[in-house]
Order: sequence, then C-alpha cells, then structure tokens
Amino acid sequence: MTITIRRNKEFTDLLDANLKLRYEGRRRIDEKVHVSDIIPTTCIRKQFYSRRYPEMDPISSDSVHHFVRGEASEFVITNLANIGIAQPEIEIDGIIAHPDVMLSDEVIVELKDTLSGKRLDITDERFRSYLRQLLYYLVITGIEKGILSIRYNSKEFRWIRSDSEGDYYFKPRNGKEPGIESWSVYIPKGDISREILKNEMVRRKNLFLKALRQNDASILPKLAESKRSSKCPWCKFYNKCMDKYNEETDEAKEMANEIDLLDISGVLDFRPIEPSTYS
Ligand code: SF4
Repeated sequence: MTITIRRNKEFTDLLDANLKLRYEGRRRIDEKVHVSDIIPTTCIRKQFYSRRYPEMDPISSDSVHHFVRGEASEFVITNLANIGIAQPEIEIDGIIAHPDVMLSDEVIVELKDTLSGKRLDITDERFRSYLRQLLYYLVITGIEKGILSIRYNSKEFRWIRSDSEGDYYFKPRNGKEPGIESWSVYIPKGDISREILKNEMVRRKNLFLKALRQNDASILPKLAESKRSSKCPWCKFYNKCMDKYNEETDEAKEMANEIDLLDISGVLDFRPIEPSTYS
C-alpha cells in the first residue's frame, strides 16, 4: 500500500489564473473617481498612469495575493463577525466611496489587513493613509464616528538593518501575537477640518478628471520629493513619469509640497490608549 503525493502545478496555475482574472476585473479603466484614487498618501499620477497605460503594470502574483488577503479578511470579518452592512457604495460630488462596513448609519468601520511586523500608529505613513481614507468616508457621509480596525497577520517583528542581500528583522520574545488592533476616530459635525478635507477631495478629484480627459499627466503632482527615493524606483511608470515631457506644472509642484492637514499642530489628538468614550 502506497500513498502518493506530488506537486500539482496544474491546479496552482488554474487557481492563479482565475484569481488574476478576478483581480483584473477590479482594475479601473473608466473615468469614475474613487476615494483611493485621490487620497494624498497614494500617488495620484500613478493612478492616472494605471488607468491610461494598464499594459505597463501587468498583474503580479504579489498584487493578486494582496488582493486575496484583503478580500478574504473583509469577507470573514463582515460575515462571521456579523457587524453591519458590508461595502455600501456611496457617491457624492462625483467621488465614489466604498466604506467596508456601516453600523446602523452611525459608525463607519474601515478594515485593514497587513503583513506589517510593526504595530502601526500615527507616526507611520501607512497608518496615516488608512486614517485619511476613513476621514474621507466620514466627510462624504457626514457621519461623526469611525473605527479603523487593523488585522496583523504576523507576530510583531522589528527591522534591524538592510544590505544588498535584503532586510534583517528579529522577533522580540515579548512581541505582540498576530491579531487585531482597532482605533476610534471622531470628527464632529461642523468641525472646520471637515470643510478642509472636502475641499481637498473635490480639488484632487477635479484635477484627476481633467488629467484623464486631456490625457495630460503634467497637471498632476508627483510624489513629494521626500517620498520619492523610497517609492518611485519601484514604480512601473517611473520612466514615463520622469520623462522630460511629463514634468509637473508649477501648480502641481506646489500641490506636491503642500503641508498636510494632519501635520498641522492641534488638528489631531492621538492617544495610544483604549478609549472608553469618544470624548
Ligand atoms: S514614479 Fe513616483 S511620482 Fe511618478 S507615478 Fe510613480 S510613484 Fe508617482
């Protein structure tokens, strides 16, 4: 009697192909503007190029698995945890929002799933990007309360150094286990920051649409100088973007280097403790 075990490449390829197809179906090539196109923490130019030149950014296994992880996590949490209406589509001022969950029209929940070994907080670019997305949803819907819930897939680990071979990390013995951390976010109705965020959204949406319609990337800001060295070298559109014919207009340059609302003293009140109330 023998139990045979072999690699099944055929099945892996089938699964890969079907998931890629599914992910491809989600790629945006139309002129509808989604919140994720215009948040300042992502590159608005990159969003433009991926709409206009999708063939330059072929789907990688990494992006498919990132997509699957996000979808799976959201599906499991919204269905198994039974916590509200999943993914309602809301459109206001020509901007489309897909908050992950709405709890009885009073609270918006944004679910994030990450491989980050570091537990994120307001000092991290990624956390601020998640927060900005949630703030946009709160402004669009007029809702005051939000929850940002981040699921960490791995035990906490810390970066030590990088060299030509790669990155080196260590897992502290007392590091946090994989799990979920949630943050309450509150932005009162009538708060001036709502108006500022709304103007920011509409301005970026109008600029994005203008660039698409005129097929002109130069009116869109590149990433701020301070972020380019860590992100641009890996961008599929690097050569196109840095080409002399795709320079930035003066207005776009100014926009790229504007002070972020969240960096202005007094705008954020961040406390890394469990909140018992929203006050
Ligand atoms: S190269 Fe940098 S600035 Fe240009 S599209 Fe890519 S990420 Fe944006």
